[in-house]
Amino acid sequence: MAIKVCKFGGTSMADGNVMLRAAKIVESDSSRRYVVVSAPGKRFGGDVKVTDLLYQLSDAFENGDNALFDKTFEKISVRFLNIQTEIGKDLGMQAALDEVYAQAKNGAGRDYCASRGEYLAAKIMAAVLNIPFVDATEFVRFTPEGTLDNQTFDIAAKVLSRYSRAVIPGFYGLGFDGKVKTFSRGGGDISGAIVARGVMAALYENWTDVSGFYACDPRIVHSPKSMPELSYQELRELSYMGANVLHSEAIFPVRSAGIPIRICNTFSPEDAGTYIVKTSTRDVRDGVVTGIAGKKDFTVISLEKSMMNSEVGFVQKVLAVIGKHGISFEHLPSGIDTMSLVIDNEHLKNGVLETVIEEMKQAVSPDKIYTHENIALIATVGHGMAKNVGTSARLFKALSEAGVNVIMIDQGSSELNIIVGVDNEDCNACISAIYNEFFN
Ligand code: ASP
Repeated sequence: MAIKVCKFGGTSMADGNVMLRAAKIVESDSSRRYVVVSAPGKRFGGDVKVTDLLYQLSDAFENGDNALFDKTFEKISVRFLNIQTEIGKDLGMQAALDEVYAQAKNGAGRDYCASRGEYLAAKIMAAVLNIPFVDATEFVRFTPEGTLDNQTFDIAAKVLSRYSRAVIPGFYGLGFDGKVKTFSRGGGDISGAIVARGVMAALYENWTDVSGFYACDPRIVHSPKSMPELSYQELRELSYMGANVLHSEAIFPVRSAGIPIRICNTFSPEDAGTYIVKTSTRDVRDGVVTGIAGKKDFTVISLEKSMMNSEVGFVQKVLAVIGKHGISFEHLPSGIDTMSLVIDNEHLKNGVLETVIEEMKQAVSPDKIYTHENIALIATVGHGMAKNVGTSARLFKALSEAGVNVIMIDQGSSELNIIVGVDNEDCNACISAIYNEFFN
């Protein structure tokens, strides 16, 4: 029978009643055999995610603040003991919490602490569903550089083949040093994708608190259209650019195996949600643009030099400067005698921008070098764009009519996206203008 892997996010694990709701979803379909969980998330606005509490716990330990450590641990304990009470069964939480306390106090480390939210949530779900708990450290492996080790998929296949059903904690695995290591925040989505690939699932269901992707952020445009289907590529572009329903790296494990992802809503399970598939079956006439997403806080460093185009190694020398500082770039738009680097502001703090500019001056002696700080990048994404003449004309006309000044333009060669850079303050106006042009 076709296997489904269900991953439940933090809001689907937030308290005991929601966990029971998630368990019901699993039990309503016998093909839902593998369950991956996040740590309990926010129960209401202003609440704190268990993962954040665990990071605070680790900070308190590192600062040697015993009082704060105990106070924070108490908050974490209360969350899990309440869940146990709501579920109405002794799930062995006290003993499990005592163990976490002892390990954290013993210096088990930041990633160990952070991972315990999913560990305990998975223990609870395994007891509720009465199926085995399989720890993620048994098969998720990291390289010495801290990236996901490709051996993970074979190990996952082997380990999981021993279980017809299992609950697995998301967000972590085993680091190269033999200690618990976590993914970046929201990484439970990657864990779900690894399990889906390991068991060669027919479908990876990602259960969250929204009924799929919208064409743009509903905080910017009121009730935007939902997207019934996206391709892996479209998803990658949109989630990388800030559509944060799913971790932007979660598609890699499933993409090569062609396993579709379905984004579903734990609080409205009947909704169709969004399917993410290898090749979209959507007719391009249904819409030129699939979605729009934006991300703020980038810096553009632009260099101008006459005859740049014939100077061998120019770009290489510029890239060597940022490479030396361990800085990656997002985009590299270029002209005949100009090139620009678009870099996340995060990489350029504390005087790094000034140093990098000085070093670029020395490396390539540009005629001019200047920066544009605090820009937002807005990606308009859709396979339909390649087949429809005049898409960019419509987009730029909409922006000019909305009075949005475009600082930078970058169109990927796949014609899957058009990225524009605008001032941070123009970000929302830019997204609204593009949405209105293509969806209203
Ligand atoms: N609990 C982790 C976080 O809050 C990972 C996840 O939920 O996917 O980032």
